[in-house]
Amino acid sequence: NVINRGYGARSYGHSNRGIRGNFVPPIKSNGGYNPGNVIGLQGKNDDSTRRCMELLCGPDGELPEKLRNLEPSLIEHVSNEIMERDPNVRWDDIAGLDHAKKCVTEMVIWPLLRPDIFKGCRSPGRGLLLFGPPGTGKTMIGKAIAGEAKATFFSISASSLTSKWLGEGEKLVRALFGVASCRQPAVIFVDEIDSLLSQRKSEGEHEASRRLKTQFLIEMEGFDSGNEQILLIGATNRPHELDEAARRRLTKRLYIPLPSSEARAWIVRNLLQKDGLFKLSQEEMDTICNLTEGYSGSDMKNLVKDASMGPLREALKQGIEITKLQKEDLRPVTLQDFENALQEVRPSVSLNELGVYETWNKQFGSLA
Ligand code: ADP
Repeated sequence: NVINRGYGARSYGHSNRGIRGNFVPPIKSNGGYNPGNVIGLQGKNDDSTRRCMELLCGPDGELPEKLRNLEPSLIEHVSNEIMERDPNVRWDDIAGLDHAKKCVTEMVIWPLLRPDIFKGCRSPGRGLLLFGPPGTGKTMIGKAIAGEAKATFFSISASSLTSKWLGEGEKLVRALFGVASCRQPAVIFVDEIDSLLSQRKSEGEHEASRRLKTQFLIEMEGFDSGNEQILLIGATNRPHELDEAARRRLTKRLYIPLPSSEARAWIVRNLLQKDGLFKLSQEEMDTICNLTEGYSGSDMKNLVKDASMGPLREALKQGIEITKLQKEDLRPVTLQDFENALQEVRPSVSLNELGVYETWNKQFGSLA
């Protein structure tokens, strides 16, 4: 049976029940990080708790005030599962989207790097919405922002908050914003934000999801009005489902469209070159680009994956055993491989859907 003791003196007396209702013995700690008191929480291993505490405690070994009333197990969950150590995406990894990159740099990266300059009239919005079809690089942009701004990156899917965490979601949201404020500058990326802030639920919406939404908006309001170096990025494929309150807080709204022909070519070349498989002529590349109109970045990646199986499948068909196959014997990927792959990998976004994004962009988008 795991003993949940709380992190510090302040947690003592505030909550004597853990997330799953385990009893918390009323043992007073010294108010700071005392490994003896915190390890073993909620069945996590000692190393994980120790790492998490090292990240969050100040130089004095004290747990920051903001975190003291929060559930230790949720703080640990945020630190271990939601906080990403190194998102490892740079602008150069993202094809196309030059305009979005430029706007994001000015709107969010510079302010995160130079808060002293971006205050008063120049103070930036704290909420950014990236909307558009699935698989177009919204998550990549979120990660790149964190990387370029040297910020801590927190990534959570709103649908997991509403499904998996319903009931506890509110507390998790508090822990998320609490930990983020201790790890500034911070970027909180919320995927599928529509499932959290959608207008659909307003009539007869579930009590728990209504509370979750309220908590989320309160937290956003909190850091919006303060001097906190926290940016919230919401991503959605269903911007039209966001309600007015959500739009108000997500002050910048950038349309992330399907990749242009040049961006599609870039993705193909980049992925094949990485593996030393690129031998296509300019003409063949042009053909591939013409045949992939309407494909998303993620569709392109799947297409390249499938095409690059072509040489392997051919070798095996000729009777070469997979265990005896030499990598050098495989021929480069050809246009024919792409043509075959195009039969298998179809575009995931329909033309009708694009109309919805464009209309919403005209009405609410920042760059329209
Ligand atoms: P979204 O968040 O918009 O649904 P992601 O950012 O998760 O899409 O993209 C999924 C995958 O598709 C990425 O990991 C990447 O391999 C590929 N991809 C999508 N858009 C791009 C892009 N603009 N440049 C390079 N790769 C892309």
